[in-house]
Amino acid sequence: MESIFEDAFLKALKKHASIQKLVKKKVDLILENPIAFGEPLKANWQGFYSCPVKRSFIIIYLYCEACRKKGDDTVVLCCDCAETPNRTVKFVLLGPHYDAYGI
Ligand SMILES: [Zn+2]
Repeated sequence: MESIFEDAFLKALKKHASIQKLVKKKVDLILENPIAFGEPLKANWQGFYSCPVKRSFIIIYLYCEACRKKGDDTVVLCCDCAETPNRTVKFVLLGPHYDAYGI
């Protein structure tokens, strides 16, 4: 499995240093099976998956195989999807629920 970490994700990881270990554990789980450990998001976040780190704190990611299967690639903002292998997980955001959703 390939993994890509977006800048926003890495920045958030630095900011929330106290949960770095927890996040790394979750990242490992997601890389093992992105579909099983994720919850598909809807509306503005269609095509994205979320995985809770702890209460109200989530990781948002994309799984390129899933992007393509659903034909979501026209909807999903997976910018370099065409260049990534199918088995790529892109970690997009990390944050409290409201923060990650931009609310
Ligand atoms: Zn993709």
